[in-house]
Amino acid sequence: MSPIDEIKNRLDVVEVVEGYIKLKKAGKDYKANCPFHKEKNPSFFVSPSKQIWHCFSCNIGGDIFSFVQKIEGIDFPEALRILAKKAGVVLKKEDPQIRSQRNILYEICEETADFFQKGLVKNKAVQDYLKGRGLKSETIKEFKIGYANNDWDSLSKHLTEIGYKTADIEKAGLILKKEKGNGYYDRFRSRIMFPLQDLNGQVVGFTGRVFGPEKENVGKYVNTPETLIYNKSRLAYGLDKAKMEIRKKDQCIAVEGQMDLIMAHQAGYENTIAVSGTALTVDHLQILKRYTENLVFSFDADTGGEGATKRAIALAQQFEFNLKVAIWDPADDGKDPAEIIGKNPKKWEQVLENSKPIMEFYFENTINKYPKNLSVDHKREIAKELLLPIKNIVNVVEQAHWLQILASKLKIEEKTLIEALRRIKSREEGRELPTEHFAERSRIKEIEEILLGLALKYPEHLEYLNKNFYESLLNTEELKKFVKNVRMDNIKSEEDKFLANYLIFKVEHLNIEEKEVLKEMDFCIKTLKEIFLKEELVKISLEMKEAEDAKKQDEVNKLKEKSCKIIDELDQLNTE
Ligand SMILES: [Zn+2]
Repeated sequence: MSPIDEIKNRLDVVEVVEGYIKLKKAGKDYKANCPFHKEKNPSFFVSPSKQIWHCFSCNIGGDIFSFVQKIEGIDFPEALRILAKKAGVVLKKEDPQIRSQRNILYEICEETADFFQKGLVKNKAVQDYLKGRGLKSETIKEFKIGYANNDWDSLSKHLTEIGYKTADIEKAGLILKKEKGNGYYDRFRSRIMFPLQDLNGQVVGFTGRVFGPEKENVGKYVNTPETLIYNKSRLAYGLDKAKMEIRKKDQCIAVEGQMDLIMAHQAGYENTIAVSGTALTVDHLQILKRYTENLVFSFDADTGGEGATKRAIALAQQFEFNLKVAIWDPADDGKDPAEIIGKNPKKWEQVLENSKPIMEFYFENTINKYPKNLSVDHKREIAKELLLPIKNIVNVVEQAHWLQILASKLKIEEKTLIEALRRIKSREEGRELPTEHFAERSRIKEIEEILLGLALKYPEHLEYLNKNFYESLLNTEELKKFVKNVRMDNIKSEEDKFLANYLIFKVEHLNIEEKEVLKEMDFCIKTLKEIFLKEELVKISLEMKEAEDAKKQDEVNKLKEKSCKIIDELDQLNTE
């Protein structure tokens, strides 16, 4: 059996897709809002019996490999690597199918993570430090925390010795060119290493936290630069470990630092990810949205105070998350989540329970700053602060609700506020929301697929199709084989079986009643004939122009006759 077949045998399409999006049972299939276009009503379906997926709006679909390729934006070799790992199928490294530049970088990063982990085992001082911060050894293992020692080249030596090229190690962001002379040196030295893992748990980069006495000109944190496999604006630290729990709890807690995240996971809050307020991107929010709509920000003790955090909140509001803010007292509870949890995990639970819906938080925070009896100036200031977050609310009912509250608090007429709201520049400048993106759909292909799907699902009508339809009416090359007397039990190759299943799957979701099947087939045949004949007419008129230019009268007459015939046929089609 080929590795591809073996992977397909071992993995279930539902399980693979669920790693990325939330599926709901729908009869014998599963449905979801399509991850490839923006929608409110699910048109994305997954069929466990046929092991395929399909979006009826984008009109795209396929198997587990094409799904992973599409959602990760990667090529086949990388999808193969990811799914092989998930299935526990060992691929030969020399296999040309998996030799891609990206895969080499994945290997290097994973090898490096191993190397740093071994470095930690050898260093008692660092181990003690981590334990002192409250980390258990299982946690250190789970997060693959390691240590880069103080050498200039021990990592690059190790990687070259086991066969990796310097150029590739540089592409993985692990070494730097020497400023003087030839050669390279290791980027990470004397640092505690936190591997950055993508959604599939593959190591794609590192954050290194300085260890030992602080030195001047040395940053506390050093990160891998963006590489072919590490995209800063897409990676949310810990999401690979948090995603299933986020779905289960239908809530995601966002913390700022890696230590915050690790401590939260260790204490059982596995639905936690780390993205700092300053670095939250549209990509992060889009990815998160696949798992939940409920987001708790616990960025720092004075959330909302800082511009960067405000922008992050505004962005999340525009993506229609139900936002809450976790608030604590830094003097009593601890300066960040890691410290709070380290002191008393129960306290963290309380903080989360008491987290406030974002608008409530903004209202309290703002109004508390002013005296009970508001002057005109106070009112203007309060309105200025609160109208922007109100403007960012996408849902109009919710927006109206908060406008009403603001009006009553300020004792101002609502319509005045509505006018003021209108004048506020909507949304943050320079932050374009992604436009709705619909994959191109070909109407012709759609009709062809439905027609053949019907013939495959209802073989009793195959004969009818053969009598009334011919191959050349099809535009989609790969579908032609199904026009001839094809029955499911005659289909031999895996590829054809897949395609046939796919066509049947599409048709089943159209909910065509059995007595309507023939009528639907007629409609498809008629439409395709019409398209075919019209194209013929265009061709003939072009030929006619050429013949006229060349003064070939015989030819012109012949073509005229031909086009009259086609026009007759078209008329006939429309009167049938
Ligand atoms: Zn779609």
